[in-house]
Amino acid sequence: MPMIKYLVVILEPAAASFCYYDVKPVPSSGLMPLELLRRVVDHAIRNGLHINFVHGDSPLPEEYVRLVESADHISIMPPGQNPCAGGTVLVIDDHRLEDAPALAENPCANIILRVGRDRLRQLSGMVRQLMGKFGRLNIILKDLAQFEEPELQICREQMVVIGKRVAAEYRKGNFIEISTLTDRIFLTNMNNCGAGVEHLTVAPDGRYYLCPAFYHEGPEHSLGAFGETPRLENSRLLELDYAPICRNCDAYHCKRCIYLNRKLTGEVNTPSRQQCRIAHLERDQSRQLLAALPSAIDGSEKIVPIPELDYSDPFEMLTRRDIDGGAKDRHFASLLSRPLEAVPASQLLLQIYQLDPGLLAKLKQMTPFALDLKPKK
Ligand code: SF4
Repeated sequence: MPMIKYLVVILEPAAASFCYYDVKPVPSSGLMPLELLRRVVDHAIRNGLHINFVHGDSPLPEEYVRLVESADHISIMPPGQNPCAGGTVLVIDDHRLEDAPALAENPCANIILRVGRDRLRQLSGMVRQLMGKFGRLNIILKDLAQFEEPELQICREQMVVIGKRVAAEYRKGNFIEISTLTDRIFLTNMNNCGAGVEHLTVAPDGRYYLCPAFYHEGPEHSLGAFGETPRLENSRLLELDYAPICRNCDAYHCKRCIYLNRKLTGEVNTPSRQQCRIAHLERDQSRQLLAALPSAIDGSEKIVPIPELDYSDPFEMLTRRDIDGGAKDRHFASLLSRPLEAVPASQLLLQIYQLDPGLLAKLKQMTPFALDLKPKK
């Protein structure tokens, strides 16, 4: 069983989507039963789990608010809902952007902006409209599953415009975060969604799911009833170590969405071409943004430059026949170890020893030191 750190709790079937999935239309929504919510909150408190509550448009009655506020939590909600005490993340769908002007100026707010294929060309305009109203903006390309070259090209153009705006803000000392452009700059390791590894979802039907997307796929995708041990079959496949493409990749900010993986490739641990292409496009825009800001970021000397790549999907590199296995190993090893390059070898060896003393013996076996017994002239 993986080390679950938090629960995503869907408060009503029509709760806002905050990610790549669509919410199924439901005839009448209705909140999660109060007794179920009480059990979920109780379970989270007893097990030291944080909760991300996902709200819909239904206002919460007093007893629901009290339960929500008794847990260590954040609330993910559409604009217009009464924020509960605790952190709030607003989800704005592109078709509800008309709600944005009503948002207060707030340089600390956390907003998720979901943009569809048909409004991609307006993405930079939407970001401009939201400027001053967020400290962090998470951009979700909600139709990513259908992206082809034309959509990727529009994304690239929009990112260039947004990148120039972000660079201007950074030069003024306003260090806003825009997930698709700035996250990769500050990461030195994979920081993916973590569904099924770091978090599980509890839905209004009283069942566990890997994430809300699986709830909207239907109850046959459930992991069992809340209160029982979640049935996480082949849970190792959800981990980075068992994802042969992703573990060779340094697009550290990529969502590595297991829902899209399963939908598009049939395997939770095999990323779709769309996911790899967009993650690499964003990685490259982050690279260019970083290069344009040599010293504008506080502590910039500690930021590791992002190397330029000559491929747009690691799968291309892994399957190239003109490069032998050794050259591929060297390429990926140098990409992934770049943040460690400035660490002295003695310190690295100490860390390896502290991690697993046996690894030092294996390293020595792989690196034979031949003793030359020939007499010296
Ligand atoms: S698996 Fe993660 S990234 Fe994918 S839809 Fe679910 S929450 Fe979002």
